[in-house]
Amino acid sequence: MTATADQAGDDPAFVLVGAHPSLYLLATLGRRHGTRVERIPDAAALARWLVAAGVLPTAPPANDADLMHARQLREAINSLMRSVMSGRPLGGEPLDTVNGHAVRPDVPPQLRVEDARRFVTPPRAADAPHALATIARDAVRLLGGPQAARIKECEHPDCSLLFVDETQSGRRRWCSMDRCGNLVKTAGYRARRRNAD
Ligand SMILES: [Zn+2]
Repeated sequence: MTATADQAGDDPAFVLVGAHPSLYLLATLGRRHGTRVERIPDAAALARWLVAAGVLPTAPPANDADLMHARQLREAINSLMRSVMSGRPLGGEPLDTVNGHAVRPDVPPQLRVEDARRFVTPPRAADAPHALATIARDAVRLLGGPQAARIKECEHPDCSLLFVDETQSGRRRWCSMDRCGNLVKTAGYRARRRNAD
């Protein structure tokens, strides 16, 4: 999986940018610096999103408590990532929230065999709390590893999505060229395009 392997889910309302489940979760709240776009407005949307993000194979039962926990986890991860980006110390409630989800059982891998082919898949019985634990663990690994230094915010003024810049040059500027790089280009900022990947 690479940072540029942004992919569209089945639900066009979902934005899967960042190539990490934790970054996908952050992208469920768009335009943080303006009029915010909530992409998981209810528990049913959360269930659909967990499938679109590839965390679960089928939509789990999800209730309002799951939705509240998902949004709390999202904001905690957002807080920690932006602290890392600006060099602020990490701690307090966001750290407790992320670690609190990460310590719970996550979605376990299951070996599935079809004919002669083997697959690693999530079990069908995994539910929303398992999925949030998987996402929290992804955030823990990302924030605790060397990739944390490469977390960036998209430079498009209307976009607040975060991504991991895995380019050698470290000069990636857009969450994705399709979403924002080309928009800026067509808006007349052709000179800036030269530095985009
Ligand atoms: Zn963007």
